[in-house]
This record gives sequence, structure tokens and C-alpha cells, in this order.
Amino acid sequence: MSEKPILVWFRQDLRLSDNPALTAAVDSGAPVLPVYVLDDETPGRWAPGGASRWWLHHSLAALSERLERRGATLHLVRSKNAAETIRTLASEIGAGAVHWNRCYEPFAIARDKNLKQALKSDGIGTESFNASLLFEPWAVKTKSGTAPKVFSPYWRALRALGDPAEPLPAPEHIRGAMASTEGEKLEDWNLLPTKPDWASGFNKHWKPGEAHAQARLDWFLETALEDYKDGRNFPAKPYVSRLSPHLHFGEIGPRQIWHRTIAFCHAEDRNPFAGSAEHFLKELVWREFSYSLLYHNPDLPEACLRPEFEHFPWDRSDKALNAWQRGQTGIPIVDAGMRELWQTGYMHNRVRMICASFLIKHLMVDWREGEAWFWDTLLDADLANNSASWQWVAGSGADAAPYFRIFNPVLQGEKFDPDGDYTRRWVPELADVPDRCLQKPWEAPGDPAPDYPDPIVDLAAGRDRALAAYKNLGDAEPEKVAAWG
Ligand SMILES: Cc1cc2nc3c(=O)[nH]c(=O)nc-3n(C[C@H](O)[C@H](O)[C@H](O)COP(=O)(O)OP(=O)(O)OC[C@H]3O[C@@H](n4cnc5c(N)ncnc54)[C@H](O)[C@@H]3O)c2cc1C
Repeated sequence: MSEKPILVWFRQDLRLSDNPALTAAVDSGAPVLPVYVLDDETPGRWAPGGASRWWLHHSLAALSERLERRGATLHLVRSKNAAETIRTLASEIGAGAVHWNRCYEPFAIARDKNLKQALKSDGIGTESFNASLLFEPWAVKTKSGTAPKVFSPYWRALRALGDPAEPLPAPEHIRGAMASTEGEKLEDWNLLPTKPDWASGFNKHWKPGEAHAQARLDWFLETALEDYKDGRNFPAKPYVSRLSPHLHFGEIGPRQIWHRTIAFCHAEDRNPFAGSAEHFLKELVWREFSYSLLYHNPDLPEACLRPEFEHFPWDRSDKALNAWQRGQTGIPIVDAGMRELWQTGYMHNRVRMICASFLIKHLMVDWREGEAWFWDTLLDADLANNSASWQWVAGSGADAAPYFRIFNPVLQGEKFDPDGDYTRRWVPELADVPDRCLQKPWEAPGDPAPDYPDPIVDLAAGRDRALAAYKNLGDAEPEKVAAWG
């Protein structure tokens, strides 16, 4: 049993169960100092957005309480250089080792690599683990040994590896170590907005923390999994898990979701690799695929994977972007989604695709503007998932929806919100518009929604403009032009 303490650096793994960095430290018998550093050094554009900061506050409060109950105090430090802070803390407590679970953002990889070297030169060992993915991004390879660029081969390659490791239980007792100085107070970090408190609506919809993440998974398996495959496309229906912010902050890990889903299916005598259950596991693997894309293409958040898209004639005026951000485009399903996002920090996946497509194609705004807005306003803002998804919708990614496939937001709204419940919930000005015109209120007789704006763009003209611009890029296939929905 070592007497030298181990520093466990928490990052995107704010949980005690299936946390291999923590478990290895506890199992060594050494005293453990759990640390979280609020890192203001993260490259500017990708510092945590406003909504993420709200979640982080509550998630850290929950983690701190759970650690305390097991015997350890979470040491909080705010710093402009997280790695340097960890190095100093480790020296001050005479640490035998520093443990962490790996992050996969390019700047985090570089930071951790340098820290490993620096600690080595201080005579302090490091151990890093995988807590946030089913498999490491470098482990999922095609038969020829390369990283799959398209989802289906990615899924096959991942399945060829068998099931991921079984999740670890939470340590029952942690022998806590103390830092040489007192930690900071979470309340002093001002992560919650005050003037104005634009996040006041979040409390109604979300409960951050490990216990709530587990409860949400149980709720999903018991009430929604069966209908997930088809139901997941209908934003008014409760058939998606809403686990994404819990997953992003690591309050629950994908291995826990994977194994719990399989056990649930077996208990119900159902095949987990068929129907809705398999579809759910596949979505979890879309997340892995995004991480693989980011790992192998560190520019993914900033640069089009298909370089010809860098020459696209984006509309740089603010008018269209502002109307989209505020949910005032005059296109009901788009405005509903953008307002859901603002008020709850979440938007349903189907509607994310519609809103993103509308911004990029009908308004011809650069996908990076939408990506940045989502980054600031989504509670589940995640560098891998967000950038891969935006590039997918833009058609500029590796495995992407072709640019010439343009969602028709009216048809999408009619198909996926047939009763109009979702649209009317978020756009109450449309309450009196008859169902048949709800997604195109400009065709409604009389003026049933006087406070609702006219469409910012004529949909047919906007679509033609985008297709013409795409054609000019040089490799369009106009005969394949099709509208989705
Ligand atoms: C433009 C755009 C931006 C997006 N930005 C993000 C983001 O910043 N963070 C984020 O987590 N997801 C993002 N997504 C993917 C997806 O919309 C969300 O993961 C999903 O809506 C989360 O809801 P859920 O947890 O109920 O999903 P469920 O349907 O219950 O799926 C379970 C889990 O699988 C993963 N998943 C599901 N769909 C996808 C997908 N299409 N791609 C990758 N992983 C998926 C998520 O981790 C999700 O929590 C984006 C999608 C689009 C179209």
C-alpha cells in the first residue's frame, strides 16, 4: 500500500462508477485527491459555452457531494493553464502519480501529452484510461487497417471487436487526501447566468448528475426503447433518451449504456441487435464515429473535410443568421426548433437536422456559424458530435448528406410533426392556424397569426440559389437533385 497520494484529474468523466482513473487510484490503496480545474485556457472558440457552464455547475455540485459521501473532497481550482496547475498541485502534495481519463479534443490531446512529459521530468508517474468511448478511436479499423470514413463500415469494424469492456462499479470508500491549500468555491466561479437568468427554464427540463443520468437511462429503457426506431423521428413524442448532456459531461459512460441496454433486452427475452434496441446502440456508435472523425481529422471543427467547400459563396450578412438564432425566420418548424434550443438547451435530433439544413442551404450561411451557435446554446455541446454533425448536414464531411439533397422544411414539419403539437408548443403565435397550413402559415386564409413573421426566404427560390451555387463548385450531379421528406 503506497502512502504517496494519487491525484485524480476529473474532466469529462464527472462520475464515480465506470471511472477507471478513479478506480485504479482507489484500488492502489493510496490516498486520493480528486481535482477539477476550470480551464480558461481552452482555445478561445471552444471554451465551454453558456449552456454548458450551467450544466457544469450542477454536475460538479453533484460529483462533489458523491465524493464527499465516500470520504474524499473535490478540490476545485480555476486556472488559465490547467496542465500547469495539475503539475503544481501534484508536486505540492508529493503525489506518487496522476491519473486521468482521456479526452479526444485535439487541444486536450496535445495538453495531456505535454503534461505527461513534464510530470515525468518531476519524477511523477501518470496513468490514463478510456472512460468516454466504447473503444479507442485508433482501435476501430477496417480490414485494411485504416479508420473507416463511412458509418456502416465503422459499425461493422466496431462490432468485430465484440462487446466493450464491462463497466466498473463505483468505489464504496475513497481514502481522501487533502491539497496543501484550500480549494475554491463552486459558487465563486459564476457558472450560472444571473443578469438576465436566461437559463431559468433549464431547471424544469434537466437534472444533471450521475444519479439522474442512471435514472434517465432506466426511464428510457422501460418506457421508450421499444418505440425508439420510428418514434425517435417525432419531436413531440418522448421516444428519445435525452442522455446527450449526461454523456458529454461523463455522468454516464457509453459502456454503461451499452451493457445496461443489452441486459435489459435479455431480461425481456429480446434480441438487443435487432429493431429498436439495435437502432439505439447504433446511435451510440454514431457518437463513437464522430470521435473517430475528430481524432483522425483534428481540423474537423474548423475546416471542411471536402476542401472544395471552402470556396462556397456563403452569405456573410448577419440578418439571416440573427433571424435563425432568434427563431424568427417565418418557417414554423425551424423557429420551433430554435426556440426549443434557447429555452431548454436542447433540440430534438430531427429538428437539429432541419434547422441546420435550412441555415446552410436555404439561407446559405456558413455551417461554422451554426456550429458556433449550437456550441454556445446546447447543453450537450460536444466538439466531436457537433462538428461532425454540422459537416454531415453541410455535405462537406467525409460521410455526409450530399449538398444537393435539400430538406424541405414544410414537408419535414408536416411529416414529423403531423398534429403540430411540437410546432405550436414552441411557436404559440401559430395556435389559431389550421392544421393544414401550420407549416406554411402564409397560405392560411385571413390572418390567423398576425404576430408571426413572413418567411425570410422563398423556399423554392432559396433552394434553387443553393443548388446553383453548389453546381458552380464543379462537381455537382444535378440529375440526382432531390428534396428530402
Ligand atoms: C447540426 C447537429 C448538431 C449536433 N450537435 C450535437 C452536439 O453538440 N452534441 C451531441 O451530443 N450531439 C449532437 N448532435 C447529434 C444528436 O442530435 C444528439 O446527440 C441527440 O439529439 C441527443 O439526444 P438524445 O440523447 O435524446 O439522443 P438519442 O436518440 O437518445 O441517442 C442516444 C445517444 O446517442 C448519441 N447520438 C444520437 N444521435 C446521434 C447523432 N446523430 N450523432 C452522434 N451521436 C448521436 C448521443 O450521444 C445520444 O445521447 C447534433 C446533430 C445535428 C444534426
